Amino acid sequence: MNDHQVVVVGAGPAGMMLAAELTLADVDVVVIERRPTTALESPRSRGLHSRTLEVLDQRGIADRFVAAGTPAQVQAFAGTPLDIGDFPTRYPHGLALTQSDFEQIMAGWIDELGVRVLRDRTVTGYVDHSDHVEITCADGAVLRAEYLVGCDGGRSVIRRSAGIEFAGWDPTVCWIHTEVEVDERPPYGLRGGGGVGPADGGRVGVTLAEPDVDSRFSEPTLDDVRAALVRVDGTHYGAHSPRFISRFTDATRQAVAYRAGRVLLAGDAAHVHAPFGGQGLNLGVQDAVNLGWKLAQVVHRTSPESLLDTYQAERHPVAARVMRNTMAQRALQFEGERTTALAELVADLLTPDEARIGVAAMIAGLDIHYGPDGAHPMAGRRMPDVELTTADGTTRVYEQLHDAEWLFIALDPSAPLNTAPWGDRLRRIDATAPGPWTLPVLGRIEPPTAVLVRPDGHVAWAGTDGDDDLTAALTEWIGTRPAATPSGAEAVP
Ligand SMILES: Cc1cc2nc3c(=O)[nH]c(=O)nc-3n(C[C@H](O)[C@H](O)[C@H](O)COP(=O)(O)OP(=O)(O)OC[C@H]3O[C@@H](n4cnc5c(N)ncnc54)[C@H](O)[C@@H]3O)c2cc1C
Repeated sequence: MNDHQVVVVGAGPAGMMLAAELTLADVDVVVIERRPTTALESPRSRGLHSRTLEVLDQRGIADRFVAAGTPAQVQAFAGTPLDIGDFPTRYPHGLALTQSDFEQIMAGWIDELGVRVLRDRTVTGYVDHSDHVEITCADGAVLRAEYLVGCDGGRSVIRRSAGIEFAGWDPTVCWIHTEVEVDERPPYGLRGGGGVGPADGGRVGVTLAEPDVDSRFSEPTLDDVRAALVRVDGTHYGAHSPRFISRFTDATRQAVAYRAGRVLLAGDAAHVHAPFGGQGLNLGVQDAVNLGWKLAQVVHRTSPESLLDTYQAERHPVAARVMRNTMAQRALQFEGERTTALAELVADLLTPDEARIGVAAMIAGLDIHYGPDGAHPMAGRRMPDVELTTADGTTRVYEQLHDAEWLFIALDPSAPLNTAPWGDRLRRIDATAPGPWTLPVLGRIEPPTAVLVRPDGHVAWAGTDGDDDLTAALTEWIGTRPAATPSGAEAVP
């Protein structure tokens, strides 16, 4: 007898989002977290991108984050600002918000959902018994689950226990990172391979490159912080009383497999890279939203285990692309006239609208296109948050996704589209939503006759004139046609 259907290790952004998704899908999940409280030592991430805000909107909680942060044009590539104010989304901007605040709000939400988090408990490894997984903790506790997901960060114990290779590139630079009090306020701005700026409580945030990448092997001290400031500004401004001091690098690595049997990885456990463009937390939240409904359907036996393979197929390329763009941004930081010339050229190349939109949509997560291409150009892309007029009044698509259900939106009453056999696995909405619709990158398109929207807000199928493939799409994504068994239970595909 298993203790839980799913155990998630790590209550960081990815782990909390995944636990919420599984709970919304009626999966019995528990999260194990080694930190005794929700407090974070350092603020780490400082912002959310558009697609993450949309994903939070799909669950009805975006307002909580927006109220705590500051909408801002946070997008940049290698120092070139990329304004997305003209993007077709409810969030044509980023949100300046520290990871500490993000995690506090998430913790409040998952608590409301009833997610159980076992804090102050460190997982040491697991054994895969083929029909269940046994998870071991440092305090001797053992938990049994059908599936285990490692959301336990870049040094993931779960990834190591699974023997999954973390392939990639060693770091080329190490940064020292702190928030300190000062006797004399330094000028704020970019320099020294990083920058100096305001931090909470009147402190000063300092992120500066160390002269030697091997600094990463030693514990950072206040003397190291002062030395870094002296190197860059000629003075340490009387820096004292650090709230924390940490180091991080541009190590760039990705798990070659996101799944090993009953064990999966999400967030930093699956990919790490330099924080240029502020993409890591955003990636992890979106991994979780991609994986949650798939794992739920497999746990509920409405879909075969092979559905889990689409998680790697869809999310591995997205993280690989982020890794490439952060490595490119790092390359433009190397010292020398040639690099400066290249950086200036790249800044010029990003000026035309087409280039700005392409790169900004990539960093914002708005251009994600899960392949392969379907008959309709929207297939695989994010569903836009269009306004729907139904018999009950008007609503938005994202409002209809709050419970993380499958949606079938029928926009042409004359189209003969039969979803009845899947009736209890999707919610059908008959509505009008006049076009054209405007999508990031794709531009203006005429609305389809109907659209099948996944719980993560991506389009599984969109109707054209010939709709023969709807049944195939429903079968592929939601499971085979439910058939009543003698006991009244559904058949397991
Ligand atoms: C300086 C800096 C700035 C950054 N800025 C940005 C930014 O602006 N935007 C952005 O999107 N990203 C940014 N990032 C990246 C972002 O912080 C990470 O990508 C994000 O935290 C990953 O979330 P996660 O949930 O995958 O992992 P983590 O946040 O690392 O969470 C993992 C959790 O697992 C727990 N855990 C680990 N091992 C165990 C174990 N054995 N047992 C139990 N619990 C365990 C940990 O305590 C932790 O709570 C930045 C990172 C750094 C270092």
